[in-house]
Amino acid sequence: MMVVSHVVLGVSAWVLAERAGLAVPSGPEGVAVAALGALLPDIDHPSSWLGRRLWPVSRPLSMVLGHRGLTHSLLAVIGGLAVLGAVEPGPGLARLAGPLALGYLSHLAADALTPSGVPLLWPWKQRFGIGLCPTGGLMEWLVVAAFAAATAWLELQMN
Ligand SMILES: [Zn+2]
Repeated sequence: MMVVSHVVLGVSAWVLAERAGLAVPSGPEGVAVAALGALLPDIDHPSSWLGRRLWPVSRPLSMVLGHRGLTHSLLAVIGGLAVLGAVEPGPGLARLAGPLALGYLSHLAADALTPSGVPLLWPWKQRFGIGLCPTGGLMEWLVVAAFAAATAWLELQMN
């Protein structure tokens, strides 16, 4: 999916989780961190938005892991949360683990909508996906617009 789609879906996932009472509200910081989490998996792609900005990390990752490998798996989510827990962040940083993880998971779910799918159970190479949304296609725009509209409508209802 396109970078804008990942950002919209990551933010939508976080806002909808907050409003549904599934997540502890974390304000604008949570929204920003969810957007960052939604961009992180593509750090393994030097041509991605994040990969171009963090190329010293992206290029070696791409050479070692390839695109849509480890970073597009549940192991990456679990490993990332384990690292966050191991560094024993203060309460403010710990509060942001939820939006970071949910944004990250939204990226995996969004990429699972594309024909390429994602290796959720990496290192098992089996890819999971439904092929509904070719990247940049009409279906991607419709899915993103639906989530954006649902999020905006919910925000209007709550405020
Ligand atoms: Zn991706």
